Amino acid sequence: MSGIYVHVPFCVRKCGYCDFYSEAGSGEPEMDRYVGLLAAEADRLLSAFPHLGETAADTLYFGGGTPTALGAERLVSLLASLRRRFPISADCEVTVEANPGTVTVDGLAALRRGGFNRISLGVQSFHPVTLDLLGRIHGVPEIRDAIRDARRAGFENVGIDLIFGIPGQTVVEWGYDLHLAATFLPEHLSAYALTPETETPLGKALAAGTLTMPDDETVAEMYELAHRTLTASGYRHYETSNFAKPGRESRHNRKYWRREEVPGLGPAAHGLLFPPDGTAPFGIATENPPDLAEWARLIESGRPPGAETIRDADSAWSEALIAGLRETDGVDPADLAHRLGPIPTERIAAIDRLVAVGKLLRENGRFRIPDALSFLANEVLAELV
Ligand code: SF4
Repeated sequence: MSGIYVHVPFCVRKCGYCDFYSEAGSGEPEMDRYVGLLAAEADRLLSAFPHLGETAADTLYFGGGTPTALGAERLVSLLASLRRRFPISADCEVTVEANPGTVTVDGLAALRRGGFNRISLGVQSFHPVTLDLLGRIHGVPEIRDAIRDARRAGFENVGIDLIFGIPGQTVVEWGYDLHLAATFLPEHLSAYALTPETETPLGKALAAGTLTMPDDETVAEMYELAHRTLTASGYRHYETSNFAKPGRESRHNRKYWRREEVPGLGPAAHGLLFPPDGTAPFGIATENPPDLAEWARLIESGRPPGAETIRDADSAWSEALIAGLRETDGVDPADLAHRLGPIPTERIAAIDRLVAVGKLLRENGRFRIPDALSFLANEVLAELV
């Protein structure tokens, strides 16, 4: 079964550290037009890849941007429009990312009634100074309200996203964020290390020396603290940056880590498709332009909105290993070989090399990154491919 990703390219205001594609300050007409064009994109996708109309999707994910900047009514109408076009399973996980500054209890109740059953709240921090430094539009009261209102609206699957390794943030403050987040009893918690991007205001402030990143040892200590605090609170550390109560892992994100089919809709959306006709056994990667106007122009002209690249065995294996090894359970090469064919010899040599130096563990036919190196997963993965 596939998942479906929808990129909502609107935010109230750009945060100082963000390099995700979104437009700040768009008006109602642009948002209405986007909703109509997204339906047109779904129609084009179904006509180009008819197999997507034959098996039910079991995850739908509205990310962004700030999906809730669209307003509950448009989001519900967008979901209904996708349900009319794609077969969707009865137990589909339907996630909406939300910024605590953009939700109300009535809006959340409308989303819940409209079929959304999982909400991922971009909390990032419980410290006003840190929220300010990040350029978030919400404060701590909005966070508390959003979590309470999501529960009141009937969301039984709530995720909280946090960021660590922020300039000025101390280990003690980070520990407070983790403890406080856990007291709200979310089903899912993500803890992302801040990656400063050079073109963002934060990146420029770092380059100019007006802000300083915490040193590597401090960031590693924060990662370790997240692992200790959240596992002690009953969460399973199931992916480098993700923790969940048992059974509440993100089904949608697992599809990326396991390289399963996820068509992407909307500006900047990436997708992976597996047409069953054998023309692309390793999948077709799609990549929509990170530009609302360009995306709209392509859809209105009836053309595919994004680049489509047929993946080959080596790239498919590299992507599958990179994504799969972020899961703490690691990967089963036999399972991957079943879907991707024989593992390329270069990858076998790279795996053997990493096993020999203890950077990968071989256990019960699976490979995984040792717990002690989990924080350095990206470096291990870079060596692998
Ligand atoms: S709300 Fe999210 S997507 Fe929008 S600017 Fe901030 S971090 Fe980026």
